[in-house]
Amino acid sequence: MTDRRPPEDRTQLAGLVLHWLYAVADTSYVSLEPAEKAKLFARWTGLLVDAAATGDVVTARQVGMEMVAADYSEAETLSSSVAVLDERLREEFGVPDHAGLRTAVAGLVAGYTRAVRDRTLDEQEEVRVAALRASAEATFELREAERKARYAALHDALTGLPNRVNFATELDHYLATAPSGARVAVCVLGLDQFHTVNDSLGHAVGDQLLIAVGERLRSLAAARGYVVARLEGDEFALLLTDTTCPDDAAKVADRALDALRPAIFIDGIELPAPASAGVVERPVAGTDAADLLRAADITLHWAKADGRDRWCMFDDERNSRDIARYQLSAALPAALRRDEFFLVYQPLVRLVDRQFVGVEALLRWRHPTLDVLRPDRFIGLAEDTGLMVPLGLWVLERACEEGVGWHAVGPHPPLISVNLSVRQVRAPNFAASVLEILDRTCLPPDKLQLEITERTAIATDDESLAGLRALADHGVRLALDDFGTGHANLAYLRHLPVTELKLAGEFASGVAAGDDADEAIVQGLIDLAHRLGLTVTAEGVADGRAATWLRTVGCDWAQGRLFGMPISPEGITQRLRDGRGVPGSPAAG
Ligand code: C2E
Ligand code: CA
Repeated sequence: MTDRRPPEDRTQLAGLVLHWLYAVADTSYVSLEPAEKAKLFARWTGLLVDAAATGDVVTARQVGMEMVAADYSEAETLSSSVAVLDERLREEFGVPDHAGLRTAVAGLVAGYTRAVRDRTLDEQEEVRVAALRASAEATFELREAERKARYAALHDALTGLPNRVNFATELDHYLATAPSGARVAVCVLGLDQFHTVNDSLGHAVGDQLLIAVGERLRSLAAARGYVVARLEGDEFALLLTDTTCPDDAAKVADRALDALRPAIFIDGIELPAPASAGVVERPVAGTDAADLLRAADITLHWAKADGRDRWCMFDDERNSRDIARYQLSAALPAALRRDEFFLVYQPLVRLVDRQFVGVEALLRWRHPTLDVLRPDRFIGLAEDTGLMVPLGLWVLERACEEGVGWHAVGPHPPLISVNLSVRQVRAPNFAASVLEILDRTCLPPDKLQLEITERTAIATDDESLAGLRALADHGVRLALDDFGTGHANLAYLRHLPVTELKLAGEFASGVAAGDDADEAIVQGLIDLAHRLGLTVTAEGVADGRAATWLRTVGCDWAQGRLFGMPISPEGITQRLRDGRGVPGSPAAG
């Protein structure tokens, strides 16, 4: 058996290349152009043929590795390659079991499998490294997102200051860790004119103002180690942990208000930023964050209600009074619906003969748990809540009804004098409602007197003035009540259709005490009122000597303890029936 020479004929080699290419087509995904593939296979065929001729395993292995590098890396590619090479080369060499050929094929297989394994390992490593990197990046991103979310949840986006949640957390932490006997203070600050800035100059300027205020408070707090926060809107807060008494906190409130006093310049506009503050300072023991913040908020409202540009210190007594007032005011509408109000009447007497000429209707509230309440406990609340208008109409209607009832009792039915509040007089259609009530109850208009205080007189606008004039035109009397307690300004009489001046009870007390100044004022006022055609009633007359003196200086009527305190309508009816008039009157005998 002779060894055939390896195929050197280029045509033979080209045929082998084609067979090989054909055998491996579609066995691996290789993104090369057909020409590039042909070039590679020509090279590898040449190398393998040479390797087979010389038994060069190294070159054959090199071919296997190059194949894998060119992306021929599937097992099927290798098996097809081995099959075609084995068959074709054997044919070419003409030796069934050529040693060099075996070496070459074995080298090819070894190079190929080694390269595939290395590539797989590389790929696995790449995946592992990429996974590690991705996980590290994801963890970082996650931490960063968490950090941002935590910051946003605990800070005010506009000023960058801690927000309410953050402040409360700090406060909670301090309260939980403070040494025994420690004290704590919270100072809540609110800008006095922020809404005006926002409304008139726009929200962008308002935002700048808040940022500047935040900066000023931040500097103040940083210098002293306080926690500062923006609670909401134009409200900021300071947490003080080094106070020993309320005075310490008050000093900080002063400093904070001072820090905000110099005007702030925004876009060349000078903006004052006056503020008010609510301060609460107390021992840590027995308090909590919510309680402190609520107390400071309440106190800020006090500071604003007391005139702004100031601080107020929390005070339990004022707070209890506020709560009681709030409860009363909340109960008012139901009280009107449940008919818990009633009227009492105080006699008005003519001083010259002590004749019973009228009654002043005075409102009372039979509160379900607090017994009978006098008007000073609830009239202000009714004014504030807007209930005064319906309540005032109820008083008018009830007084007129009861007044008409007394017409049947005797020949001289009393004048019914009813107090009015500012709100009532300014309510639209007030005069029309009064006329309607007179109409409905059939009380003659000249038997009704309306009492308004100086405060109400000052607050009359054109419409309410026209209403009062219309009532006067119908014969309703108008009295200026409690005269002398306010400005005692008779200039109202120029435009108000007043028919009577009611001198405040203080004058009667002064007269009773023999006060020369009071006597001179009362005498002067009576003279003046008479010149203006008004009658004069002295209120709060409790003493016979004062009554006599008042009669001698010409005071027309009087009311007070001496002539009878307010009594029920039945009491008035009884007196009229008995013909007793009032105690001490000639009619009473
Ligand atoms: P006012 O108009 O000055 O009414 C007189 C008040 O003085 C009444 O108190 C009366 O009880 C009290 N008084 C009368 N004589 C004496 C006296 O000799 N000595 C002393 N110390 N006090 C005397 P009251 O009933 O508590 O009314 C207080 C105020 O409430 C009234 O002051 C009046 O301004 C207001 N008011 C009462 N009823 C009404 C109402 O229906 N509507 C409105 N808007 N206000 C009312
Ligand atoms: Ca009165």
